[in-house]
Amino acid sequence: MKKQYILVIDLDKCVGCKGCSVSCHDGHDIAPGVNFCWLDQKGVHGVYPDLHMSYFPRSCMHCTKPPCADVCQANATFVNEEGIVLIDEDLCTGCQECIAACPYQARFFHQEKQVVQKCDRCIHLLQIGETPNCVISCQGTARIFGNAVDSNSEVSKLLKENRDIAFRDKEELGVEPNVYYLPVRKQGAYTP
Ligand code: SF4
Repeated sequence: MKKQYILVIDLDKCVGCKGCSVSCHDGHDIAPGVNFCWLDQKGVHGVYPDLHMSYFPRSCMHCTKPPCADVCQANATFVNEEGIVLIDEDLCTGCQECIAACPYQARFFHQEKQVVQKCDRCIHLLQIGETPNCVISCQGTARIFGNAVDSNSEVSKLLKENRDIAFRDKEELGVEPNVYYLPVRKQGAYTP
């Protein structure tokens, strides 16, 4: 594999603007009321007047060992050569077994189209050399996207510098998610 795209999210920089959730709709036919990319609010932390709100952004983790692909009998879900987990909507039968198999609740059923959908890392933008919408729109510059195979990429350097604190959600499941988080370092903040 020449590329393994990963997303690093620095929780210390996430300001909860939800620009990621909104901009995600650009270029995607997402069902009404659905967000491929969303935030869990973790509450207010610290001691007045030094208070801050913490958030935990979520989306498809583009797992290296995706259980959603394992259960797909139509072979509609697959991992491309850049490590992106994709859905071929022409092959999807709408059985929704993948929705049940995803440990991150990152898949959604489009009633009108009768297919399952999720984050595709804005592959339409990657193909023209651009960056995913959620990264471009992040007001806090908390989202960093790039190729982890390239040791000189920003994500590789960031993970190397923060190797003692970087973590992945539900890593114990062994699905090898390709979203990494840097924890909130502000005083009094929650520890994920
Ligand atoms: Fe599949 Fe869920 Fe992993 Fe995304 S997060 S690759 S939908 S199992």
